[in-house]
Amino acid sequence: MNIALLTIGDELLNGDLADTNTQTIARILTENGLTPREAGTIGDDEALIVTTLQRLAAAHKAVIVTGGLGPTEDDRTAKAAARAFGRPLSLNDQALQQIRNRFRTMRREMHPANEKQAMLPARSHVIPNPNGTAPGFSLQSDKAELFFLPGVPGEMQAMLEESVLPRLLECFPDRPDLCRRSLTVFGLPEPEVEGRLGAALLPDTVAVAFNVDFPMVRIKLQARGDHSQRHIDRAELQIRKALGDHIVAIDEETLAGNTARFLRRAGLTLALAESCTGGLIAKLLTDQAGASAFLERSVVTYANSAKTACLQVPVQLLEQHGAVSAETALAMAKGVRITAGTDIGLAVTGIAGPDGGTPEKPVGTVLIAMSDATGERVAPYHFPGNREQVRQRTACTALDWLRLTAMSRLGSSDRKD
Ligand code: ATP
Ligand code: MG
Repeated sequence: MNIALLTIGDELLNGDLADTNTQTIARILTENGLTPREAGTIGDDEALIVTTLQRLAAAHKAVIVTGGLGPTEDDRTAKAAARAFGRPLSLNDQALQQIRNRFRTMRREMHPANEKQAMLPARSHVIPNPNGTAPGFSLQSDKAELFFLPGVPGEMQAMLEESVLPRLLECFPDRPDLCRRSLTVFGLPEPEVEGRLGAALLPDTVAVAFNVDFPMVRIKLQARGDHSQRHIDRAELQIRKALGDHIVAIDEETLAGNTARFLRRAGLTLALAESCTGGLIAKLLTDQAGASAFLERSVVTYANSAKTACLQVPVQLLEQHGAVSAETALAMAKGVRITAGTDIGLAVTGIAGPDGGTPEKPVGTVLIAMSDATGERVAPYHFPGNREQVRQRTACTALDWLRLTAMSRLGSSDRKD
């Protein structure tokens, strides 16, 4: 689509601030079949804003600009827009009224500097700002319609969705149907995922892209035109055949969210005994609202003495096999399950590094154990990577065990919402 994005602000160029506005706008536009053609960032330099606006307006049908609409001296966008298109700045009554109303509803005195925010290029249309003082504005140049929004992400997004998007949908009526889906894969390296998909028969109408969001791989599917939804559904089916249970989440879902959802739905209660993850598994599960329905406790037992005191792991067993051993992991899982009286006890113990490895048990050695009414199991892992990566992988692998356990208790129809 012939749309350009421009974000303005020195803080975006000196490393102080990540430009999330471009990402948010690109995502919202793309979801509506309006992927922009160009995006850029410049500093608070009035002359450069003028020439950039002129260049973008000559080459595109729509230009969306964020930043620099505030009341301070470094907010120069309105002035630059006026210069770029030969329109004098003048006090816009509608904009002034909006700013006054905003201060009234906040029960705050309006600072005279805020009047500057109502100085807009002549013949601009005001874009209401439901979440802040700075009104946005749009103006029509010879070839393009330009939309100016504040930099504050929450204000920008509301104005984009409420005012700019409806206008763009009018300007670009010939949008192809666009359907997108994202599949989150865990437990397979990216080349393996790519290899398996290469052998799967995916419809050639569906574009496939990969990106790594450690420790997950995301498969992004996109199809345009008639029946795009049906083509995406068919591609998902083929990918499920190739990757099976390694697909842990779809679109906005997460591994932890789905694990929590399935545990709740299966009516299973859980107690955790964590060593090398230091509570990370519990953190990821309690990020989910309603975790109290299934999570009874998580005990962080870092020292051997804690494993004995809290989980009844025998001193002799620890001395004989060491803290990072299948025997200890199993004893931790059983111990936490019995003391908590839950359906499932799950334990992790390992060496996250960078120190503490030995030739027999190098850094990255992790044991995960689970105990429930049907029995117990334990598995050794050798995770590559630094301390943070070993801990992340351990936590995600443990969550995946729980997800698969809960899923196996549910019929396939119960797994869906
Ligand atoms: P204000 O009235 O707050 O001055 P403004 O329209 O002048 O609004 P800026 O001064 O450019 O906007 O930015 C205000 C704040 O919004 C910045 O300090 C920053 O926190 C955030 N912001 C600006 N641009 C972006 C961006 N592209 N991505 C993410 N955040 C941004
Ligand atoms: Mg500002």
